[in-house]
Amino acid sequence: EWIDLISFYNRIIDRFELTKKQNVIFDRRLPNQAAFVEIDADKLTQVLDNIISNALKYSPEGGKVTFRVEEKLGMIVVSVSDQGVGIPKENIDKIFDRFYRVDKARTRKLGGTGLGLAIAKEMVEAHGGEIWAMSKEGKGTSIFFSLPYDARTEEDDWE
Ligand code: ATP
Ligand code: MG
Repeated sequence: EWIDLISFYNRIIDRFELTKKQNVIFDRRLPNQAAFVEIDADKLTQVLDNIISNALKYSPEGGKVTFRVEEKLGMIVVSVSDQGVGIPKENIDKIFDRFYRVDKARTRKLGGTGLGLAIAKEMVEAHGGEIWAMSKEGKGTSIFFSLPYDARTEEDDWE
């Protein structure tokens, strides 16, 4: 179905903001008009839930998590950035593989199966988008994904 990604994203961020136990600051950089994407709502929820819970899981006390939506080349790009431990350069493409976890000891403590991002990748690609990561060890991580969107809903105040 067609979903306004902006209000959808806002509602998911609201839910995390209300239930988070960590002392982490949320910073939303979202456009203030609708952007429609054709995607299954439950699947989009699953993708965002995993990316946001990863960001919280690896955030330091008092860290900031930044949520963005941008338009690039006819695609809408959603991202979640944290100021956490980061991912070593040589591992960055592997995080989307099934069961892959960067540091076995560390991640065992934090829980999880290593399937979250593999599922996210599958879903994003099934909807004609891509998913990728940028990270600096000790500085933080950004996870991005793109989706084709309905340009007819586009207006001129994208930032
Ligand atoms: P699951 O999502 O199944 O509960 P998981 O979170 O370990 O388990 P993924 O979400 O697929 O699995 O992430 C794979 C691995 O990538 C993680 O174990 C972690 O090592 C690394 N990773 C993912 N997101 C981040 C992040 N924001 N900061 C640092 N490392 C990350
Ligand atoms: Mg995860």
